[in-house]
Amino acid sequence: MLHTDPFALRELLGPHAAPGRRAITGEHGVVLPAFTDHHVHLHLIDESALAPGGIAAAIDLGGDPVALARRTREGFPRVSYAGAFLTAPGGYPVGRSWAPDAITREITDSSTHPGVPGGVATAIDEQASCGASVIKVALNSAAGPVFDSATLDALVDYAHERGLPVVAHVEGDGMLRLALDARVDVLAHAPFGEWLDGASIARAVSLKQRWISTLSIHDGIARERAAINLATFARAGGRVLYGTDLGNGDRPGGIQVSELSALDAAEVRGPELIAALTDPWPGLSEAAAVATFVPGPAPTSLDEIPAWLGSATVVPEEEIVRDEH
Ligand SMILES: [Zn+2]
Repeated sequence: MLHTDPFALRELLGPHAAPGRRAITGEHGVVLPAFTDHHVHLHLIDESALAPGGIAAAIDLGGDPVALARRTREGFPRVSYAGAFLTAPGGYPVGRSWAPDAITREITDSSTHPGVPGGVATAIDEQASCGASVIKVALNSAAGPVFDSATLDALVDYAHERGLPVVAHVEGDGMLRLALDARVDVLAHAPFGEWLDGASIARAVSLKQRWISTLSIHDGIARERAAINLATFARAGGRVLYGTDLGNGDRPGGIQVSELSALDAAEVRGPELIAALTDPWPGLSEAAAVATFVPGPAPTSLDEIPAWLGSATVVPEEEIVRDEH
């Protein structure tokens, strides 16, 4: 077994990387904190493939709140969720083949009084009572009507009052600006519809927005725009979260090397790449009971890291022995 230099490893993978082995099999490898996929749709995937494929925690950003509330809290991945997409009447994703009625709520009234039919508070209270830890809003002017700013302000303010961050699907002209004006916390996709100017990116950074990557769902110009917008945001100090939108298209479960490679190419590399994977947002402390284990020799250069992470798996902490140095 080649000796792994723990200092070189931390330089490549950040302060929490350590050489180690599995207690039972003795297999050597590298230990990292638990990984989260910050954007999935569980009703569209086989979630049993996630933990063997290195994903200890997942955030469902659009599903049936009642079905999500009935889930077991045991096992991995640990799941947190938004519940339904909140959208304007007739807005995205209402009517999409992958979006049954159960996963959307059309907001017809900006009221923040409880129990108003179609009201802002009614929709948010319902998601919260189903156990949601974030609220998802659709701002997609390319695919239908969107909230006016008064309704969106009411939504974000009411969600914040209840301690829930707001994640937005932002697509179409002026939608990023609408999201920034309303102080949306997180973008579900790095912006892919337009080249962003420095001022918008600086505003997003100063609002402490987080952007979920989802670079590999795009092709062509959309992918290029998403990658460059994300790279600029990251360079300006913006916080990037690894997320795949798993369920969108047909991909095997687990960590997506294509997403890691796209992030790496967007200069989110090495320790920053690991930080995007291990950010516990929106607060999944239970995932601390497990670690990520990547068997075999450690990478020796930044370029090797995305493909190397393709062998990651989730292992309980008690089955891990970190090498002493
Ligand atoms: Zn999605």
